[in-house]
Amino acid sequence: MERYAEITHKNPREILLLRGSGCRWKRCAFCDYHLDFSPDEDANYALNRREIQKVTGKYRKLEVINSGSFVDLDRRTMELLRRTCVEKHIEEIHFECHYIHRGAIRELRQSFAKSGVCVKVKIGVETFDADYRERVLHKGIGEREPARIAEDFDEVCLLFGLRGQTQESMRRDIETGLLYFERVCVNIMVENTTDIRPDPDVAAVFMEKLYPVYRLDERVDILLQNTDFGVGGEEKK
Ligand code: SF4
Repeated sequence: MERYAEITHKNPREILLLRGSGCRWKRCAFCDYHLDFSPDEDANYALNRREIQKVTGKYRKLEVINSGSFVDLDRRTMELLRRTCVEKHIEEIHFECHYIHRGAIRELRQSFAKSGVCVKVKIGVETFDADYRERVLHKGIGEREPARIAEDFDEVCLLFGLRGQTQESMRRDIETGLLYFERVCVNIMVENTTDIRPDPDVAAVFMEKLYPVYRLDERVDILLQNTDFGVGGEEKK
């Protein structure tokens, strides 16, 4: 699997898809990428070290994803990330985190801040329609208020192309995301092994009505395929 890439447009950064001990929530109805994990900490560290060594620091920003939350990454991987930031003059590192681990974010920020590195944390909210999010998507975010959700987080992921979503609901989600978070990442649902199916009609509405509006917005990333950041697909030789 490709685990290192460069994002050259919008907020240029290097990105790593690392491997941890596994998402501890695992219940999001649309998700099967939490299957990328191993309970073998040594094997995870060996894999992660190989990928981290590819980081050059050329954009001074690094995004780390791991099919779960940063708390699932082993201690040595986290320490190597911190050292790599210092050695490669990286000023900003991004992690992802489920709402249930928000209590660990302050310590994460402090540990990198000691090395002069700013931490940004991204949460997958998928939609600010709390009933849809919890009844259909089983996201596990007990809080309904976007402002409260945003208290510990800097960036938000949204998931579009699902049955029941409309132009208005998707626009509202993006605008709410932009109001309370620094950046928004829109993912379009693709076929996977879960029972949640993409709705091509909803995706078409997004492409026709909203994609042109937000395509060039520097604060909005749009992933039409979940490998569009360059990681998660087949490894290039
Ligand atoms: S928290 Fe993330 S990795 Fe875990 S099940 Fe939900 S979407 Fe998947």
